[in-house]
Amino acid sequence: MILVSHKLDIRRNRAIYLPYFVENTNASFRMFFFLRSLQMPRGYGLQIMFQAELAQGLPQVMADRVQLQQVLMNLMINGIDAMKDVDGVRELTINARWTKKEQVSVSDTGVGLPPQQADQTTVPVVRKAGLQYRPLQRGVFSSELGISGGVMAAKHGIKLVLLLALLAGVASAQDAKTAIQNAQKAMGDVKSIRYSGTGKAGGLGQNWNPTTTWHPTVITNYTRTIDYASRSSREELTRVQENPPARGGEAPFDGEQKQVNLVSGQYAWNQPGNAPQPAIAAADERQLQIWLTPHGFLSAAAENNALTKTGKESGKKVSVLSFMIGKNKVTGDIDDQNLVTKVDTWIPHPVLGDMLVETTYSDYKDFNGIKFPTHIVQKEGGFATLDLTVTNAQANVQNASLQVPDAVRQATAPPVRVVSQKMADGVWFLGGGTHNSVLIEFKDYVAVVEAPNNEARSDAVIAEVKRLVPAKPIKYLINTHHHFDHSGGVRTYVAAGATIITNEGNKALYEQAWNQPRTLDPDRLSQNPRKATFITFKDKYVLTDGNRSLELYKTQRDNHNEFLTFGYLPKEKILIEADDFTPPAPNGPAPVPIAQAFGNNLYDNLQRLKIDVVAIAPLHGNVSSMSEMRKVLGKSS
Ligand SMILES: [Zn+2]
Repeated sequence: MILVSHKLDIRRNRAIYLPYFVENTNASFRMFFFLRSLQMPRGYGLQIMFQAELAQGLPQVMADRVQLQQVLMNLMINGIDAMKDVDGVRELTINARWTKKEQVSVSDTGVGLPPQQADQTTVPVVRKAGLQYRPLQRGVFSSELGISGGVMAAKHGIKLVLLLALLAGVASAQDAKTAIQNAQKAMGDVKSIRYSGTGKAGGLGQNWNPTTTWHPTVITNYTRTIDYASRSSREELTRVQENPPARGGEAPFDGEQKQVNLVSGQYAWNQPGNAPQPAIAAADERQLQIWLTPHGFLSAAAENNALTKTGKESGKKVSVLSFMIGKNKVTGDIDDQNLVTKVDTWIPHPVLGDMLVETTYSDYKDFNGIKFPTHIVQKEGGFATLDLTVTNAQANVQNASLQVPDAVRQATAPPVRVVSQKMADGVWFLGGGTHNSVLIEFKDYVAVVEAPNNEARSDAVIAEVKRLVPAKPIKYLINTHHHFDHSGGVRTYVAAGATIITNEGNKALYEQAWNQPRTLDPDRLSQNPRKATFITFKDKYVLTDGNRSLELYKTQRDNHNEFLTFGYLPKEKILIEADDFTPPAPNGPAPVPIAQAFGNNLYDNLQRLKIDVVAIAPLHGNVSSMSEMRKVLGKSS
C-alpha cells in the first residue's frame, strides 16, 4: 500500500521521504548486487553513471519501504539491462520531484523501445522479483501495490515514471488528526498510567519445537507504570511455572521469579534486587513498547504526523493510522467507538528478520473516567509473548517518571569476547560470553558447533577460528537446536559458505524465517543473499574424515527441546551439549528441579547409547567432566 501526503513537513528520521529513501537503498552496493544477479561481465557496472536527482522540499511518503524499494530496484535493473549493448556513456538517473503527475522516474541511456513495442499495452518493464504488473492503458503499468507508472521516451533511452499513485485510497493527515482527537476524548487524557493484572507470558523463541507456542509461564502479578512525557516505563512481574511445568526453553527456575524491567529515554535496565543491571540491548524495544500502549499510540500518532485511511477489522469499519517512529513503522486501528483496538510494529530480530509485533486491546472498561482494555495480547513472531487480563488501571499517578541510576547512565555495552581453551588436539572450547561454541579441526576443513546470539558473536567466534586454524575453511556449522539464543548467529555461517547440520525438525523454520524481509537491521546474508545448504538427520549423523569423527545424536524424549542434538567425539571422549546440563558455577547453587530433570534425561540418553564420556564441553558455563555431571545429578556410577 502506497500512501502519499502532500505535506511538505520533512523531519529527519520521522518519516520516509524520498532523499532519505534513496540514500538508504545503499545505491552503490545494490547496483553491484544487481549486476551480479544479472550475470553481467565483471566491471560492467563501473561504467554506469548513477545519478539521483532529488528536488528540494519533497513531500513525505508513507510507504512500505520494502515494496517501494523492490519496485524502484526493478526499474533500475530494467534500465541497466537496457544499456547492455550501449557503447559509451551508460547513465541511469533517478529523479524525484513533485508535480501533480509524477514523483520518481528512472531513466537510462539505452537504445529505447522499438516503436511497435512502445505501442503495445503491456510493456515488459519488470522482470525481477515476481511483482505482478498489469496494463492500465497504453504504455502505463500498475502494480498490486498501488503504484502506477508509465513509459515515455527519454532523450536517448526510456524513462520509466513511477507514480506513487492513490489507487488504494488517499491517506489523509487531516482525517488522522480528527481520529486521534476523537479517540483521546473517548479514552481520556492520560499523562501517565499504571495498570495491573495477571496472565501468561511466552518466552520468545523458546518453544519446545519450532511449531509449538512460545514457552508458557504463568504471571501471578503484573504491574506496569508509564510516564509518557519522560518516556519511562517500569514493568514488574512475578512468574511461576505452569503445573506441571511446560516443555520448552528459558532458563529454568523454581518457585516465584520476579522481574523488574525499566526504561527511561534511551536508558534501559533491570532491577530484580536492589542493584540496577544495565540492559543496553533492550533499550530500543522497551522505548518503542511505550508507544504501543493505547494512550501512548495516540500521542505518538499525533507527534509523528500519522496518516489514516479506512480499513476493516473483524468486519467492522476502523480508521487505520500509520506513522514512523525513527526507523520503526507503526500502524494501529481505531474502532467506531473511538478506541484503539490493535497496534502493529516491526522490530529487528537475528532469526526472524523484521519481526511483527502485534498487540490487540479488547474489552475496554471505564476506570475512573478513563477507558482502558481489560484484555491485552501481544504476539511477537506469530505467538503470544504476553496475554494479560487487566484488573486495574489508574491514570495520572504520582511519581511515574523514573530516575536513571548513575551505573546505568554510565554503562557501555560489554565487548564481544571469545576465549579459547584447547580440550584435545584439534578441539577447542570457544567461551568468553553467555554461550559457547566448539571448534573441531578435520583433515581439510573445520567444523564449528553452535552459532549463538547474533552476527556480532559469530563474527568474533569466526575470527578466533581463523586465528587458531588459519588454513582451513569452515565447512560445517552444527546447530544443536532452534532456540533463538542458540540459532541467532547461524546466518553468518551461511553467508560465509558453511553447510548447516541440524535435526530435520528445524530446517523448515530456518528456511521460512530466513526468507523474511530484513530491512531494519540487515545482516551479511541479507546484503549478499545465498541459499542455505543443509544436512539434516533424524536420530544420528556422523561427520568424519576417516580419522576424526564427530557423532551427532538426537536427545530422545527431551523436555527442553524436541529436536535437541548433542555431539560426541569418540576418540577424545568429549561430550558437546546444550542446555540439558549446565555445570554450576563454583560454589553456585545446585540446579533447580527442572534443570535436574533435563540433566537426568541427557544422562539416560548417554547410558542408552553406551557412550563413554570423560570431558564435557557445555554450550553454557565452563568446561566440565563426567564425574562432575554425575556428582551434580547425584548418580553413583
Ligand atoms: Zn534451549
